[in-house]
Parts: sequence; structure tokens; C-alpha cells
Amino acid sequence: MAHFDVVVIGAGIIGSSVSYHLSKAGYNVALVEKGDIANGTSSRCDAVALISDKKPGIDTDIGFRSIQMYKELAKELSFDFEFSSRGSLYVCETDLELEIAREYADNQRKDGYDLQIVDNKELLEIEPKLAKDLVGGIWTEVDSTMNPYLVCFAFVEEAKKYGLKVFTNHEVREIGRGVDGRVETVITDKETIRTEQIVNCAGVWASHIGDMVGIDIPIRPRKGMILVTEKTDRIVHQKVHEFGYMLSKFEDINYQRNVSKLVEDHNIAFTIEPTEADNYLVGGHRAFKGYNVRSENEVIRGIAERATRFLPVLKDVGCIRAYAGVRPWVIDHLPIVSEVEEVPGFYIASGHEGDGISMAPITGKMVTQLIAGEETDFNIDRLKFSRYKASATIS
Ligand SMILES: Cc1cc2nc3c(=O)[nH]c(=O)nc-3n(C[C@H](O)[C@H](O)[C@H](O)COP(=O)(O)OP(=O)(O)OC[C@H]3O[C@@H](n4cnc5c(N)ncnc54)[C@H](O)[C@@H]3O)c2cc1C
Repeated sequence: MAHFDVVVIGAGIIGSSVSYHLSKAGYNVALVEKGDIANGTSSRCDAVALISDKKPGIDTDIGFRSIQMYKELAKELSFDFEFSSRGSLYVCETDLELEIAREYADNQRKDGYDLQIVDNKELLEIEPKLAKDLVGGIWTEVDSTMNPYLVCFAFVEEAKKYGLKVFTNHEVREIGRGVDGRVETVITDKETIRTEQIVNCAGVWASHIGDMVGIDIPIRPRKGMILVTEKTDRIVHQKVHEFGYMLSKFEDINYQRNVSKLVEDHNIAFTIEPTEADNYLVGGHRAFKGYNVRSENEVIRGIAERATRFLPVLKDVGCIRAYAGVRPWVIDHLPIVSEVEEVPGFYIASGHEGDGISMAPITGKMVTQLIAGEETDFNIDRLKFSRYKASATIS
């Protein structure tokens, strides 16, 4: 029976990063994935690492560190993952929205992050194709883009150089434990692997892996749809999104937008990102619809309606396809990066919701520090699984 120091379950961007960091640190690691690399949400998402969509505090702090790590990884990893520091722009429709954005940017600046408020004139200088009536927004040069699908392969290919063994098309069905409750085996549909440590990086499926060791992991799938445009001349130079995106992500940012019923009903907020291939990714929405990743015509219409309001030029650009993914959502919008006290040897690195691409490098590093018994780069008390002990599974 094969034996590994650590078995990582799930080869999305989190499992790939965890595998890379552990392998580089000298651990003998197996990465077990039920499909192929990037089988899940990490190939059904946008492509940005942002600080400007995060709450001040640990959310932004780990997001920022992760972006710095991406800059290093872009030089270090042999596989090109199309990293670029383009910056990003939030746009505001009303004075009230700009006021809320200003308060948000002020709080981020107090923590040392460079988020600048721009007025209508500056906005149009940065992105001339935007609608002329927007009142202003937030610009930051920190935010970056990459191709998340390629990031997964870049981590895995580099980790293989340090000895990583990859088991694709192996679905984890059971986890065996010793008399002291410690994890002992990972049982897939094809074989049994012995190990002392398991990292659950199964994203929206992390709760199913949790069931295998008798714990409730309160992660729910939160759907999002993206439209892909045809290749076209430059529309925007960087990520552009409406500040209402914060409204669709966080429940406690609370004001009314003047939007149609279609946009309101589907919790749609405009986002657009250029890709290296000159197609644009246009989004987005958030909805709880189980694990269903079918595209929905109504949502496509709502996204198109909202997108053309901010970028009228999109009316003349074709949409070549649409796709949907499910974000691993947790109620406090912070990932779970943690050991599990009641199951010795069992770790969780899941629940990154809309931030898994952003936070993958730092997550991989901190999981490696946890397993090595070292101090983590950040105090991760707020990311501990034990924070849910009082609140059972979220239905
Ligand atoms: C529309 C949309 C846009 C987004 N945009 C961004 C963005 O711009 N920036 C950002 O930071 N984040 C973004 N996100 C969020 C980001 O995509 C996720 O947070 C991230 O992909 C989660 O990665 P993961 O590795 O945890 O999960 P996944 O990529 O889903 O990986 C989990 C893996 O576990 C495997 N697995 C599950 N069960 C088993 C089992 N029993 N045995 C073996 N393997 C198993 C799955 O097959 C899967 O490959 C977006 C998400 C969506 C839906």
C-alpha cells in the first residue's frame, strides 16, 4: 500500500498550491483528485487577485500578501500562468454610492493600502469607454490578473519536480482512522493510500469529505455566471466592476441600487476583465442554487443589461459562450484554513468563496506552516474551523 506524509484532496487552485508548498518544504505528498487538475470551480471562475473586493483586516491582509507571492511565483514557476499587474477600477453610479466607496477606501488606506478615489473626469481618463454619467470610483494599482486554470497546472508541474505524486480520476470515498481517531488512510474508488495527514481542499465538496470523518463543515455552493466575449479591440485595460459588487458579495453593505427587477432578482453586479487572448470575461452574479452549474438565459440577459449600462460599447460585441461555477461560501466570508482538533491529522483549506484565486498562494504557505508546527505568517484564529463549534451546519 502506498504511503505519503500528506494526502491533499482536491486539485483545484487551493489543493494545487498546498501540494506545491508542502512538496517544496520536503514533504512526501499525494494529490488526489476525482477528475482532472482544475476540475471544479477553479476552471469556472474569473481571473483576478484583488484587495479591493475584500473587507479591511485579515481578508485584505492575506489577499495582499498573496498578490505579492504571485509576483514571485510568476518568476519562479516554469509554467507561464499569464500573470499581470493591471490594477482595477470600481465605478459608482450615484453620490451615495461614491460616499460609501470613499469610506471603504479611507478604511483601507488607514491600513496602508493604496486605494484612491477618482472623480468622473479621472475615471474617464483611466477608462474612456465607460458610460459618461458615472460619478467616480476607486482605483488601485495593486490588483492583478492571471489565468487560474494555468495556475493550477503551474503549481502541480512545479511540485512534481519536488516529488509530488498525482492521482487524478481517483474519487475519495472514505477516510480510515486509528483507535485514537487519527487519520490513517484515504480510500479512493481505485486504491487505499496510507498517511498521517490529510488536507481537505475539496472546495464546495469539502463538507462531503468532512462527513467522512464525522464533522460538519459549513460550506455552501454559491453560483456565479460569466459571459465570454469574442476577441475584440481593447475595451478596458484592467478589471472594472461596479461598486454594487460589494453589495452582492457582503450582506452588511446595505443600500439600494436603481436597477431592474431582473438584475435585482438575480443579484447581478457588473464586472469585466480583459484576458491575454483579448476576449473579455463579463459578469457576474451570486445565487444559492445547489451544485447546479448550468447557464441560465435570464441571468445572461441580466448580466448583458447591466454590462451595457456601464460600457455601452459592449452592445456591439458578440458573446461567444457563457459558463457558471459555484463558489465555496461560508457565512463570515473568510476561508477555513485550520487543523481539526477532534480529528488528529485532518486539516481543512477550503471555503474561499469568491477569493480562492486571490488567496491560493498564502493558503498553501500557511497550511505548510501549520503542518510543520511553525508560526503562520498571519494570526489565523479567525480562519479556524473551531469558530463554527457554536453554530452547527448552515442549512
Ligand atoms: C463565477 C466565479 C468567479 C470567480 N472569480 C474569482 C476571482 O476573480 N478571483 C478569486 O480569487 N476567486 C474567484 N472565484 C472563486 C474561486 O474560483 C474559488 O474560490 C476557487 O476556485 C476555489 O478553489 P478550490 O481549490 O477551493 O476549489 P475547486 O477548484 O472546486 O477544487 C476542489 C477540487 O476537489 C475535487 N474533489 C471534490 N470532491 C472530491 C473527492 N471526493 N475526491 C477527490 N477529489 C474531489 C474537485 O473535483 C475539485 O477539482 C470565482 C468563482 C466563481 C464561481
